[in-house]
Amino acid sequence: KLYNQVQDLKGNIRVYCRVRPFLPGQCSYLSTVDHIEEGTITINTLTKNAKGRKSFNFNKVFGPSATQEEVFSDTRPLVRSVLDGYNVCIFAYGQTGSGKTYTMTGPRDITENSQGVNYRALSDLFLIAEQRKDTFFYDVSVQMIEIYNEQYTLEIRNSSQTGLSVPDASLVRVSSTLDVIDLMNLGHRNRAVGATALNDRSSRSHSCLTVHVQGRDLTSGNILRGCMHLVDLAGSERVDKSEVTGDRLKEAQHINKSLSALGDVISSLAQKNAHVPYRNSKLTQLLQDSLGGQAKTLMFVHISPEPDAIGETISTLKFAERVA
Ligand code: ADP
Ligand code: MG
Repeated sequence: KLYNQVQDLKGNIRVYCRVRPFLPGQCSYLSTVDHIEEGTITINTLTKNAKGRKSFNFNKVFGPSATQEEVFSDTRPLVRSVLDGYNVCIFAYGQTGSGKTYTMTGPRDITENSQGVNYRALSDLFLIAEQRKDTFFYDVSVQMIEIYNEQYTLEIRNSSQTGLSVPDASLVRVSSTLDVIDLMNLGHRNRAVGATALNDRSSRSHSCLTVHVQGRDLTSGNILRGCMHLVDLAGSERVDKSEVTGDRLKEAQHINKSLSALGDVISSLAQKNAHVPYRNSKLTQLLQDSLGGQAKTLMFVHISPEPDAIGETISTLKFAERVA
C-alpha cells in the first residue's frame, strides 16, 4: 500500500523536454542535439577543445518538428483531471528564446494550428464541461498574475474597453475560450505598457494564468474544486555578474532565487522529503496548494539547438534532471 502511495506521488511529477527548431535564417547544419530516442535526449557537448556526448532522461522528449498538437496531446489528461477536482501546475522553463512562450501561448502571429497549451487547455475544459452538463454544473474563472522582482502584479485590471472590471485579487468568470483570449490579450496589453520602460520585462518575470474550476454534482449537490496554473517562467539564463549592475543585477538575483526555490520544491516532492521549502519564493508560495499532495505537476523544459547556447542548454538539462 505504502509502495503504491509512493509510486503515485512520484507519478504526479512529469518532466517533458522540448527542443526548438532552428529559426528561419539561422544556419542549421549543426545542432547541439545529437539524437532523441523516446525519453532520452543526447547532446553534443562539443567545445573548442573537447568533443563529447551526454544523455538526459525525461518522461518524454519532443524534437524540433513536434507540433503544438502533439505536445498538447500528452498534456490533455492533466486538463481533464482539473474537472475531477485536482490541482495542476504546468510550467515552461528555459533560457530566453528557447520557446517557453511558444509552448504556452504560441508564436506572435498566432493561428489556430499554432495555439499553445493555454488555449488548448481552456478549449478542452469548456468542451468537457459541456459534455458533462447533465451531471455537473461548472463555474470557471481565471486570473493572471505576474511575479516580477519577487512581487505580485495583477495583470488583469479595470478595463472600460472590454467592460471587465476587476478589483485586485479577484477572479474573472468566463464561459468560453473566447472570453479567456480577450482576457489574455488584455493582460498582455497591460504588461506591454510597463515593458517599454523596462525593456522586455516579460523575459524577466514569471507569468501565471490560473484557471479555477468549481463543479457542482447536480444529483448530490456536492461541490468539487480544481485549479490549473499555467506558468511561463522567467528566462533561466545566468547573467554575468561582472557585466550587470543595479536593477539588472537585482532582477537576475530574484529570478535565480525563485527558479532555484522552484527546483528545490519539486525535487523535494519527487524525493518525498518530509519538509518542502515552499516559503523561499513568491512563486512557490503562490502555488503551494497546487504543488505536492494530490496535485499534478508538469514541467516543460526548453532548449535551443544552437551550439552557442550549449552552456545554458546543459544547465537547463541539469536543472530538469534534478526535478525529474
Ligand atoms: P521564450 O519565451 O523562451 O523566450 P519564444 O517562445 O519567444 O521563447 O521563442 C523564441 C522564438 O522562437 C519565437 O520567434 C518563437 O515563435 C520561435 N519558436 C519557439 N519555439 C518554436 C517551435 N517549436 N516551432 C517554431 N518556432 C518556435
Ligand atoms: Mg517568452
